[in-house]
Amino acid sequence: MCTLPVFARRVADFLFPRVCLVCKQRLQVGEEYLCVSCLQSMPYTRLEGRRGNVLERLFMSEDYELGRATALYYYQTHSGRTQPILSFKYRHRTDVALWLGRVMARQLAGSGFFEGVDVIVPVPLSSRRLFQRGYNQCELLAKGISGVTHIPVNTAAVVRRVDNATQTHLDYLQREANVSGIFELRRSRQLHGKHVLLVDDVITTGSTLRQLAKVVAAAGDVTVSVLAVALSTFHKHRPEIDAEEST
Ligand SMILES: [Zn+2]
Repeated sequence: MCTLPVFARRVADFLFPRVCLVCKQRLQVGEEYLCVSCLQSMPYTRLEGRRGNVLERLFMSEDYELGRATALYYYQTHSGRTQPILSFKYRHRTDVALWLGRVMARQLAGSGFFEGVDVIVPVPLSSRRLFQRGYNQCELLAKGISGVTHIPVNTAAVVRRVDNATQTHLDYLQREANVSGIFELRRSRQLHGKHVLLVDDVITTGSTLRQLAKVVAAAGDVTVSVLAVALSTFHKHRPEIDAEEST
């Protein structure tokens, strides 16, 4: 005997089979987007709650007080396990972005990650890119997070003037110059004195997000926290790089 919603789900699954984003196996009732097996085998970063973790070090700055920083899982380009999750970015799966926002919020809620956060600011898209894609995937992630945490989302305070060119072939200084001036603080009073959570989809070098943090900090008396779906595996090896740099 099953309840009506479960029965309705089974009928819907029969008529329109839902499959796991990663392994493409049919999903069972109760599974959403990923089957239990794929969900358990994701390369989670588990950085939350670890003070001074690799992401917190990446976003440390004299411009603002750093709150917390984490990402859901490590990401490797073309990895069969993590690439399908990013379908919300490339394949118009807006529903996946909202779901991932909720997943991150539920996973982090118990660790106190959202404590004291006043407002969520998703990384903005330029109006040109927004027109091309039809949605801002980071805004959808933010809405998913907001749905669980009830922290408001602000998309008006900061705008993106231009899209930066690809960063991968640039060195550190070139990347910093490449992103300089791409964001503009339009309504600083909305962020002044606030603890702002920046939400991004994928962090590769981190230079775009660092620039956004800097622009947000110009509102004055700002605490910045950072949350992303995926973090490049490059950062897994940052501790060694940091050690080399400090010698
Ligand atoms: Zn699966």
